[in-house]
Amino acid sequence: VTDELRVLRDLPAITKDGYRLPLWVNTGLAADVPRSLEQGAEGIGLYRTEIPFMIRDSFPSEQDQLESYRTQLQAFAPLPVTMRTLDIGGDKALPYFPIKEENPSLGWRGIRVTLDHPEIFMVQVRAMLRASEGLDNLRIMLPMVTSVSEVEEALRQIDRACEELREEGYQIKKPPVGVMIEVPAAVYQTRRFARLVDFISVGSNDLTQYLLAVDRNNPRVAGLYASYHPAVLKALDFIVHEAHKERKHVSICGEIAADPGGALLLMAMGYDVLSVNANNLPKIKFAIRSVSFARARQLLLSVRSLHDADDIHQELRQSLKAFG
Ligand code: PEP
Ligand code: MG
Repeated sequence: VTDELRVLRDLPAITKDGYRLPLWVNTGLAADVPRSLEQGAEGIGLYRTEIPFMIRDSFPSEQDQLESYRTQLQAFAPLPVTMRTLDIGGDKALPYFPIKEENPSLGWRGIRVTLDHPEIFMVQVRAMLRASEGLDNLRIMLPMVTSVSEVEEALRQIDRACEELREEGYQIKKPPVGVMIEVPAAVYQTRRFARLVDFISVGSNDLTQYLLAVDRNNPRVAGLYASYHPAVLKALDFIVHEAHKERKHVSICGEIAADPGGALLLMAMGYDVLSVNANNLPKIKFAIRSVSFARARQLLLSVRSLHDADDIHQELRQSLKAFG
């Protein structure tokens, strides 16, 4: 299989009946960029900007950020690079910005932190916009959004950053801006969000944690963290339908997309892009090339009639075996 996977790199992710599904990658470390290009990634669906923030001992300046963002954008241009604004708090800590809380997953994290600290947000957004000058392959994505007012406030700040930079003489095009759906409240507002932004991306790792009320990092309840829980799949289905009503693209960058069974279900639901770790990209491409879209739809229909995560998992395993 390894040789086959290597040949796969230059082939598109296309089903046997000609359905084409773009495969993007999740990045964070500098080394992820060449690795992703080697695997034939068609874009970056999630650049976790907090990773370069984590491996330092103070906040990087606008210039420092600009340089590291420019490297990513340049390496991928003209392919799109989706940069997530700082997602700290919860399971993602900065040594020089400690957040001590009883219940960090339900606490101050993601967009909540950066909206309370516009100086952190503005520096980061300015660095992203400047890095994209002349390349124009930047997309900005907002994590942990719960309410419409958060999206509106973040959009206002991004607009302000664009204006400021233009006044300073930079040639700035406003990039597409999207939100992550990671909080159950956001699921039910997908359509509203879709009217405000250019794209939607599902963070299924957090969404699963919050839907099931299971800490994604607690080994004691790891057995309850069921990516194929019927409630999770219903939410994933609902999000695509709602976003498509507004004709907005929907991608998914959680780990469920990096599992072949999950990838086929997501394709059948209508996800426009799957974003996975570079290491998982070949096996996802292989899975997509092994089926017809019609067969993936059938699989989704049969999974929809099951009401237990283990049964769904079992059904996926058996079907994947049958597809070869
Ligand atoms: C997610 O929550 O699914 C996601 C992609 O973001 P992270 O894993 O970085 O929280
Ligand atoms: Mg997340």
